[in-house]
Amino acid sequence: MPETPLKIPVRFAFLEVTSRCNFRCQTCPLVRMKRPMVDMPTDLALRLVDDLVDNFVFEDLAFHVMGEPALHPDIGLVVRHALERGATVNFVTNGSVLDESVLHTLVANGCWRIVVSVHTKDLETSRSRAEAGTRRFSRYERKVQSLVGRFLTLRAAAESSTMLELHYLDTSAYRPRLDVIGDRRTAQFVVDEWSQWLVGSGFEGRAAALPAPADSGGLGVLHQTDPAGGSVELARGLRVRFKRSYSFGNSVVDNLVRVTPVRAGTCKLPAEQIAILSNGDVVSCCVDHEGVNVLGNVNVHGNLRDIWTGPVATRFRSEFAAGRVPSARCAQCLGRRFRAARRASQEAEYA
Ligand code: SF4
Ligand code: SF4
Repeated sequence: MPETPLKIPVRFAFLEVTSRCNFRCQTCPLVRMKRPMVDMPTDLALRLVDDLVDNFVFEDLAFHVMGEPALHPDIGLVVRHALERGATVNFVTNGSVLDESVLHTLVANGCWRIVVSVHTKDLETSRSRAEAGTRRFSRYERKVQSLVGRFLTLRAAAESSTMLELHYLDTSAYRPRLDVIGDRRTAQFVVDEWSQWLVGSGFEGRAAALPAPADSGGLGVLHQTDPAGGSVELARGLRVRFKRSYSFGNSVVDNLVRVTPVRAGTCKLPAEQIAILSNGDVVSCCVDHEGVNVLGNVNVHGNLRDIWTGPVATRFRSEFAAGRVPSARCAQCLGRRFRAARRASQEAEYA
C-alpha cells in the first residue's frame, strides 16, 4: 500500500477568493494594481480549501491577498466548507459588506478570528480610503458599529469563542501618504470612543487603557502574531489592535521616496506561506499582490503539493537559502528606501 505523504508545514495560507474591493485605500497597493479584479470560481475555491487541508499544515487560513472576501457571492459556502474541514479561519474584511448569514456562519461554526480593518479613525483620514462612490466616514462607522453589535449578540447566543478585532493603522513609525494614529493619545481616544459606544449600546464594554509601550517602539500596541499581544480588550471577544503601517514590500511609499533594489538578501516568507490568487496563480507570499512571483497555476499545474514541490517553487526557495534574490519583485521588496532631498548628497535613509 503506498504511503500517504506527510503534510507540508507552513505558517499561513492565503486563498484570495476575489481581487475585487469596494474600497480604494491610499495605503493599499490595490489602488494601482494592474491585474484583473475577478472572483475565483466557487468550485475552484472549494477544491483549493480541500487541497490546503489535505496537503498542508498551517496556523490559519485567510481568504484574501488583495480584495474584500465578503464580496464573493459564495463566500458563506466557502467559509463554511473550510470550517467544516477543520481549518483555523482568520477572516479579514473591511466590514462594509459582511452580511448577516456569513457573519452567522463564521461565529456559529468556530471561526478563530474576524479582523475588521477599520484603519482610519475620522472623516479626515477616511477620505483616503473612501468606499468607491461615497466619501462618508459616518456611514462606514455605523456599518462597523452595527457589525460589532451583531457579532456580540450572535457570539453570546451561540456561546462561541470567535474573536473580533478592530484594526487601526499605527502610523507612529512609518507613514506613507497618511497619518492616522501617530501617538498614544490618539490611540487611547479610539479605545475610549469604542468603550463609550459599547456601554451606550447596552453591551458589557469596559474602559481600557493602552498597555505600556513595547521595546519595539511605535505605540507599544502594535500588530503581533500573538493573538493576545499588542491589543486592547474592549469586551469579551472584542479587541482593538493598532497595526503598524506597512509599505507592502515597498509598493506603498510616498512620492519623495526612492527605493534602491538589492542583489543579495533573504526572505523566509516563501517557506512560511502559501498564497493563491483569484486567477489560480500560486505566488511566493502575501506581499506579491501584483502576482509577479508565480510558482505555478492550479488550473494548469495540478494540485498545490505538486506546485509547492515542483522545480519553480523549489528553485525560488533555494535561491533565498543561498542568499540570492530570486526576482526583480523581491529585489524591490527588500530594497532600501531613501527620502530624496534637494541634492543627491543630502539623501537620508528613510526608515
Ligand atoms: S486595504 Fe483592504 S479595503 Fe482597502 S483597498 Fe485594500 S483590500 Fe480594499
Ligand atoms: S522578498 Fe519576495 S518573497 Fe519575500 S516578501 Fe518580498 S516579494 Fe515576498
